[in-house]
Amino acid sequence: MEPTRDDLAALPKVLLHDHLDGGLRPTTVLELADRIGHRLPAGEPAALGDWFLAAASDGVLEDYLETFEHTMAVMQQADHLSRVAAEAVEDLAADGVVHAELRYAPEQHQRDGLTGDEVVGAVSDGIVEGIARAAAAGRPIRVVQILTIKRNADNGGATAELALRWRHAGVAGADLAGPEAGYPVGRHQYALRRLRRASFPVTIHAGEGAGTDSIAEALHVGGAVRIGHGARLVEDVTFGAATPDDPWGLAGARLGELAHWVRDQRVPLELCPTSNLHTGLVPDLAAHPVTALHRLGLAVTISTDNRLMSRTSLTDELWNLVTQARWTMDDLLAVTMTAARSAFVHADEREALVADVLEPAWNPTPKGRHSA
Ligand SMILES: [Zn+2]
Repeated sequence: MEPTRDDLAALPKVLLHDHLDGGLRPTTVLELADRIGHRLPAGEPAALGDWFLAAASDGVLEDYLETFEHTMAVMQQADHLSRVAAEAVEDLAADGVVHAELRYAPEQHQRDGLTGDEVVGAVSDGIVEGIARAAAAGRPIRVVQILTIKRNADNGGATAELALRWRHAGVAGADLAGPEAGYPVGRHQYALRRLRRASFPVTIHAGEGAGTDSIAEALHVGGAVRIGHGARLVEDVTFGAATPDDPWGLAGARLGELAHWVRDQRVPLELCPTSNLHTGLVPDLAAHPVTALHRLGLAVTISTDNRLMSRTSLTDELWNLVTQARWTMDDLLAVTMTAARSAFVHADEREALVADVLEPAWNPTPKGRHSA
């Protein structure tokens, strides 16, 4: 049976890679900016939403970075952070997400004097509120935080300590993000080693702005247990001859050592297709390596990255793969289960998510499941 977008929206989904400062509602950006007297490039919600999408996808780095200047500007107060977090949870739950991991860099929310603990506390309060509102609307969701260390900043150690202080209070992992070129993982060796020795899970943005060396470094120097994006791992695959039925040439594909390692170790890749389209990594979704990586048996998961800037949702990401890259319901089920089994929660909790929430909805009959 062919799925519809509504089918997908209704199914429970798992989202591992979503930036808190990239997922605000345009109405909220306007209201919060008004309160603090921050000037925005547009004065009403639809026009502002259009501006974010255009600025984030016009191929000009300065425009892309400006989008985050505006969201960051309105996220410097505790009550603003709580509101943004609560609304993010509500929006994800309304999209059918049942487990979400929201990430942000605490150091970027301390311009007006909040401490790191106050930032994490405010986000935590908002998440609790959002979960309560979603539950009241019949949309139960679990949400954890991931604290991001900026590649191009110097206080990774403080973020690592902050994450460890909050590890039993809603912070489930750490992340490294920012420009890959010129800012190697090794700059944050101390912080990453501290996290590793505390047995705290780390995901690292790699294989987006730079290629396979960056992914290898994230895994082997940084100790990442998941990779943010990782799309350029495809550069370590040699494809066979393309045919109409096999446009990637998967039949004759050969994996390099790194691609083998990532597949052998089942390292989850947090792929964000629309985000990559907008930053110009690939011309269209059919050409995005997510399909080849998935078909080659890597642990592919699908995420949104920045819902505001990319005007996307997890349902959109999955639906676009169906309509533009020939994905089936079985493919979507597979990446959903992989995401659940890659979540930064304990193994028993992951299996409960699969058995109690995902399986009953995605496999409505004991015999079979949806197939396209
Ligand atoms: Zn990201």
